[in-house]
Amino acid sequence: MQKFAKQAVLAVVSVAVMSLWSVSARADATHPKIGFSIDDLRVERWARDRDFFVAAAGKLGATVYVQSADASEQRQISQIENLISRGVDAIVIVPFNSTVLTNTIKEAKKAGIKVISYDRLILNADIDSYISFDNEKVGEMQAGEIVKLKPQGRYYLLGGSPTDNNAKMLREGQMKVLKPYVDKGAIKIVGQQWVRDWNPTEALSIIENALTANNNNIDAIVASNDGTAGGAIQALAAQQLSGKVPVSGQDADLAAVKRVIAGTQAMTVYKPLKLIATEAAKLAVDLVRNVKPKYNAVYDNGAKKVNTVLLTPTVLTKSNVNILVKDGFYTQAQLGQ
Ligand code: BGC
Repeated sequence: MQKFAKQAVLAVVSVAVMSLWSVSARADATHPKIGFSIDDLRVERWARDRDFFVAAAGKLGATVYVQSADASEQRQISQIENLISRGVDAIVIVPFNSTVLTNTIKEAKKAGIKVISYDRLILNADIDSYISFDNEKVGEMQAGEIVKLKPQGRYYLLGGSPTDNNAKMLREGQMKVLKPYVDKGAIKIVGQQWVRDWNPTEALSIIENALTANNNNIDAIVASNDGTAGGAIQALAAQQLSGKVPVSGQDADLAAVKRVIAGTQAMTVYKPLKLIATEAAKLAVDLVRNVKPKYNAVYDNGAKKVNTVLLTPTVLTKSNVNILVKDGFYTQAQLGQ
């Protein structure tokens, strides 16, 4: 009797699986195959995103194929094409260049693949959803903390990569905070530049030049992430100005958190990567399984209104670095405390 029941259940399961196959020749809802195409795995945060994502997807029964484009838009396009021909069910993308993936994504969608934009919004493309931390909010936090320390003075704005839509959103948030101060004449923006590929060495030379051009007369630097903040602080240190000129960042990179503790970087923004990676894995698997995900925002990417999961970032200064230990992001020993 029991054996019969077991066989009946098996039959039902296999019918369910067969009908899923008939909906889409590709989708294997029980064991989805997910491609994860990442701009640049050489950068600390993205390697952590990958590890958390692979672990979370594995728990949901999915297999992940990871690719790093190493900051090359052409390489990213061919890697995504590769994932399409490999027959994945979903592709999660951290775009290097937000504006060049329209046709590649069209191919993916034609093949019945779900496409998710991760952390950075892909513009002008038929993506299924977007997941990120609130980047405008991150920009507000960066400028907000610097303004608390220097409510007046000569500011330099160090932007992110010009190919990354986040760089623009961060700037919008930063300007929301700075504009009233600029309007009343308390803050003067003495220069601003985008940093190609978010490259720290490029940030270093931009700030070296800015210091020379301003006779070292710069009171504050609003940098858009920790990598570029590191470059800026190196340039300040060469002029004995590190710790005197506040610099912002984001990511809570280990080196940056150590600088925050030492007082050479004013703040960073903590974005729990385990959270975004786990939610993204769930999002991809839900889309493949035709389960409606829960969204809490919508962004227009130029082609459509994109359903979005927006997560909340946290300001991190010397006074609350401990939350990183509490959250398991770093150990006390890693922070050298
Ligand atoms: C991310 C940041 C990161 C930067 C450079 C941005 O799109 O939001 O967390 O620091 O890219 O990789």
